[in-house]
Amino acid sequence: MACDPAPCVMACPTGAYSQRKGGGVVVKKKLCIRCGACAKACPVDAIYLDATGEPFVCIHCGRCVPYCPHDCLEQVEFSRGAAPVGKEAAAAGEVEL
Ligand code: SF4
Ligand code: SF4
Ligand code: SF4
Repeated sequence: MACDPAPCVMACPTGAYSQRKGGGVVVKKKLCIRCGACAKACPVDAIYLDATGEPFVCIHCGRCVPYCPHDCLEQVEFSRGAAPVGKEAAAAGEVEL
């Protein structure tokens, strides 16, 4: 699922983030001043800041899925417009606590 408009894009003060047409975002690292605003703005914690404050965005590649020892992760494809529910919502980043 893609944010539209994307809060991370709107929060970035330097224009380092831009939205992709097909979903997701692109980060121009040269423009990043490592302020952390994008990570704070993301509603699903999909942006990780490393120790230097450099942002890394989840690209939904699914590589983390087989590594979870508690089988908490699942990658699910769903069409735009269809609201994700249950496991699909969790896969889209809406974590059930
Ligand atoms: S950390 Fe970088 S990409 Fe994120 S909001 Fe700040 S300047 Fe933009
Ligand atoms: S990184 Fe977060 S705020 Fe930005 S598009 Fe992805 S889910 Fe939305
Ligand atoms: S799907 Fe998992 S492995 Fe892929 S970018 Fe997102 S968090 Fe990282």
